Amino acid sequence: MEQSIIYVKSRTGEPLMPTRRHSKVWYWLRKGLARVVCREPLTIQLRFETTGYIQPVTVGVDTGAQAVGLAAVANEEVLLQAEVHLRTDIKQKLDQRRKSRRTRRSRKTRYRPARFANRRRPAGWLPPSLRSSAEATLRAVRWVATVLPVRQVNVEIASFDTQKLQNPEITGEQYQHGELHGYLVREYVLHKWRHRCAYCGATEMPLQLEHIIPKARGGSERVSNLALACEACNLKKGTQTAVEFGFPQVQAQAKLPLKAAAHVSSMKTAIVGALREQFGHDQVCLAYGYETKYTRIQRLGLPKSHTNDAVAIACRMGEVVKPSPLVFQLRCIPRGNYQLYNGKRSEHKIWAPKKVQGWKLYELVEAKGHVGYIGGRRLKGAFVVKDPLTSKTLVEVTPRKLVRVSRPVHGWMLTRLSFEAKEERASSSA
Ligand SMILES: [Zn+2]
Repeated sequence: MEQSIIYVKSRTGEPLMPTRRHSKVWYWLRKGLARVVCREPLTIQLRFETTGYIQPVTVGVDTGAQAVGLAAVANEEVLLQAEVHLRTDIKQKLDQRRKSRRTRRSRKTRYRPARFANRRRPAGWLPPSLRSSAEATLRAVRWVATVLPVRQVNVEIASFDTQKLQNPEITGEQYQHGELHGYLVREYVLHKWRHRCAYCGATEMPLQLEHIIPKARGGSERVSNLALACEACNLKKGTQTAVEFGFPQVQAQAKLPLKAAAHVSSMKTAIVGALREQFGHDQVCLAYGYETKYTRIQRLGLPKSHTNDAVAIACRMGEVVKPSPLVFQLRCIPRGNYQLYNGKRSEHKIWAPKKVQGWKLYELVEAKGHVGYIGGRRLKGAFVVKDPLTSKTLVEVTPRKLVRVSRPVHGWMLTRLSFEAKEERASSSA
């Protein structure tokens, strides 16, 4: 089996190229020529001067609403792959806070001047849930840049590039009918018909590109002759035109080119802006979903996952890499519980200490053959150990039996997610 990667930092703390030469690393550690600065992922810092020979590392970022894929690629090799699971509880928590404050205000209290209209949102303001996601994404990229010499960051910001599709309706026939173009057209038509069947409005099922005037009857390959249909509608329509099929409005709508530019969310704009500030304007490249899809399927032959998308995003044109078998999983967690009182009228002071018998919440532990995090602590009695991925209770065990694996840093729990474990999980649930 191939040996796992050890990350290396220079004497001054700058990231160097990682190594797979374990025996060399153990030799350095034994002789005191290096020290371990992080155990997971294993990172060492050298105590002697080196030439600092580095190859530029490219990071691919697949942004998402719930999970972010990260991959660092250099020299046709994947050096680090991670999946960041973002927090999804922000909105619910803020709603709860708003509710609590509202009830507090309606109680008999001293006069408070109205202050609801004197707040102004600063430029670049994001809703708290998006801000949390954007900050977690940035934190993850910066974390990668602390262990690897990152020189370029590719971020996927939209599913297709509108500039490449200027007047696609008109220039359709002049286009090269290359494979990549097919992917571009597909994303464009999906967006134009809002990911639903043009005839029955069905979503949540595989949709096919369909010729409004069938090719057999002289219909063109132009984008203005393409619509989306579910398989049932497509079969039913057969060789009829949309008008004959009873949908003249589809034919009319298809003729109108899409005016609005591909929507780039404010969160992605914020992420790209912050990355450009850190890595330099030219070091941050924008990627589009159709290119990613093309690279992932046609050139790399990988199944869909956040990390595989990230690998495809990080690849340069023509580069073919294999994903690494090891994927780190970073699950974002709250920094702490700041609630002071609970009860119907906030009459109970919360006395729970930060540590119970020396243990904090969210510490990774090993107990009875399971590795999980501390999800619940009782002053007298068993602790609850939960699964880092699913938050399901694994075991309840007395704190004496716990063995600490790691404490959360950077605001996330870091666990390994190898493909064997994933398959195991899949087969055990099946
Ligand atoms: Zn349909």
